[in-house]
Amino acid sequence: MRDLTLLPKAHLHLHFTGSMRVATLADLAQRHRIRLPHVLLDADPLRVPAGERGWFRFQRLYDAARACVRSEADMRRIVAEAAADDAAEGSGRLEIQVDPTSYAPFVGGITPALEIVLDEARAAQEATGVEVGVVVAASRMRHPLEARTLARLAARYAGDGPGEVVGFGLSNDERRGSTAEFGRAFAIARRAGLRAVPHGGELLGPAHVDEVLDHLHPDRLGHGVRSAEDPRVLERVVERDVALEVCPASNVSLGVYASDGDVPLRTLVAAGARVALGADDPLLFGSRLVEQYRVARDVHGFTDDELAALARSSVLASTASPGARARLLAGVDAWLAAPDPDGAAG
Ligand SMILES: [Zn+2]
Repeated sequence: MRDLTLLPKAHLHLHFTGSMRVATLADLAQRHRIRLPHVLLDADPLRVPAGERGWFRFQRLYDAARACVRSEADMRRIVAEAAADDAAEGSGRLEIQVDPTSYAPFVGGITPALEIVLDEARAAQEATGVEVGVVVAASRMRHPLEARTLARLAARYAGDGPGEVVGFGLSNDERRGSTAEFGRAFAIARRAGLRAVPHGGELLGPAHVDEVLDHLHPDRLGHGVRSAEDPRVLERVVERDVALEVCPASNVSLGVYASDGDVPLRTLVAAGARVALGADDPLLFGSRLVEQYRVARDVHGFTDDELAALARSSVLASTASPGARARLLAGVDAWLAAPDPDGAAG
């Protein structure tokens, strides 16, 4: 079997705080004298029941981790380590998602918070060779006017160059807020040339995907896996060429599916959806990017040809520069062309 860490790929769904290494979180907590729930440090993946209570528990742990990020140095460390970890997993393009609001109190506002992330993204790119783009994500838990403020901020830094803002997202509990009310924020982002990459269709089913398609006009959907439950909705996703950022570990950890085998990866790919595997929040879900490809191989029976197609699809759904895109795609071909060390047919 070919080594999945050597398969060139793009990583399009990773949250800033959620990307943290467990050891880094432990270190930050100690530094800032914060006591953390044990489950965050014992490296055992979070498993919560689907539903309000499960999400509430996830959210509480995420907030506890985020409360340990209290300085520019902490923020820089997270970006640098996320890029380094991506590099070690064969990713050549990382699009990391951040809501600068959460870190603003410690660094003097949302503008410096975003500038720190962008500046470190540039530095991390130079240090690791992984292209790092930034997605500014608003939260469903906050007023839609705040989302517009963030969209305007993101627009000022829009671009495809190193450490620029490539997209605008909407994260947090899908059951909260009215999707339509965030439409104006997405319109602002789109006018600035940002890709629309909201979450949708993970905690809620195909009707939610419909709603997000109607009101936010996404280029990619964070998750979108549950469009598999309605062939008409899935067809809409495919027709509009909306890429799906599929994060199997997240789906299972949040109780959306009982096991890895229940994630409808095959259904999505067979329907012609463009799928990009992502890790979402490795800090809480206990697995990083390559593990998602391993699940595709070991649980869903993807051959090396099919895994290469997934990797290509992640690159094509990314906003990587033309140079990086060509290099990564050529790398995927080379990975597949190299002889399988076990001699089995790919
Ligand atoms: Zn997410």
